[in-house]
Amino acid sequence: MGSTVKKILLYTFVLVAICQLSLASCFGRQGQYIRVAILQDAVFFSLRIRGPYEIQDPRTNKIISRGRNLNATVAVYSDSILLGNFKADYNSILINVNNPQGLTINGRRFRDNIQISRKDNAHLLVTNVVSLEDYIKGILYHEVSHYWPQEALRAQAIVCRTYALYQMRENKLKDFDVTSDIYSQVYGGLTSERQRTNLAVEETNGDILTYQGRVFPAFFSATCGGHTEDAAELWKIDLPPLKGVVCDFCVESPHYKWHYVLSKQELLKKVVSAGYGIDRIMAISPAGKDPSGRITGLKISSLLKEVSIPAKDLRNLIGPNLIRSTNFEVSTVNNDVVFEGLGWGHGVGMCQWGAYFMAKSGHTYIDILRHYYPGAEVTFMQ
Ligand SMILES: [Zn+2]
Repeated sequence: MGSTVKKILLYTFVLVAICQLSLASCFGRQGQYIRVAILQDAVFFSLRIRGPYEIQDPRTNKIISRGRNLNATVAVYSDSILLGNFKADYNSILINVNNPQGLTINGRRFRDNIQISRKDNAHLLVTNVVSLEDYIKGILYHEVSHYWPQEALRAQAIVCRTYALYQMRENKLKDFDVTSDIYSQVYGGLTSERQRTNLAVEETNGDILTYQGRVFPAFFSATCGGHTEDAAELWKIDLPPLKGVVCDFCVESPHYKWHYVLSKQELLKKVVSAGYGIDRIMAISPAGKDPSGRITGLKISSLLKEVSIPAKDLRNLIGPNLIRSTNFEVSTVNNDVVFEGLGWGHGVGMCQWGAYFMAKSGHTYIDILRHYYPGAEVTFMQ
């Protein structure tokens, strides 16, 4: 059987299977849906819908109301959710929007449907319930430049889809699968879609990374600085595709080198406010290095005492966009502490600028993914 025919048959099977699990009513739309938290603590928000819509109780799938065109402020009123003049006496409502491009939340356009839930604090959780493919279209623009080579965009689409699918499986029992900010992947909905990034999503439709047949958290970072990081060093994830590889590709990245200087006094203030009991900084040195060359911690000595701060805590303490990676050298010059480092980000998984330069030099998206996730396979989503 040809691979295209196999792919079509498999796709049909997956669609039929998933449809049974998906939204009971979404105007005949099919596919896998992801729940993206757009607003997590809203007192009110503006909602506009173009075209027909139906309001549904997501617990029972019962249709509460039907309408056409809506322009309303949504808020909590006692035990109800208010949509303009319409009062829904439910904890949560799902609005199925007929026009797949007809939804606007606080001025930003989204695809597909919206779920609105009342929280205990009388605020609202607002979730865009969107097809996984459309979700990926809404994040690529935020993760990479849409002017990047198509092979790098394809690789990024597969990595983002894999990461999202992993989150969907992990968070099944939670109120949402992902957030729309940096804590998941930044998502801007339809407003953030661009032609070249959409093309990369369509060209890789349904393709994900698996290791031994299983989806894994396909992390990525901006620039690894010469060697990607082992996920086991940062989180308790011990997986061959995330063990770290040499990267000779990102040396021309604009984020390859960084440096940051602050006074001993400024550093002392931050260290003390984080609960480390030390009264002055007399010496500062790395506590050790992991196999990728990154510093595991920083030793700071005063006259009588020495404290050791884990490197990832130090990044958060000073600011992750100032101490851009844990791959750095540290020295003191007079009253200053000087950090000189390589790369930007945690360094686990695909190096995005490495992928850019691999694509520039003629590598395919498959080459890129094989390089950064050794042992992983590109497979069609099941
Ligand atoms: Zn790199």
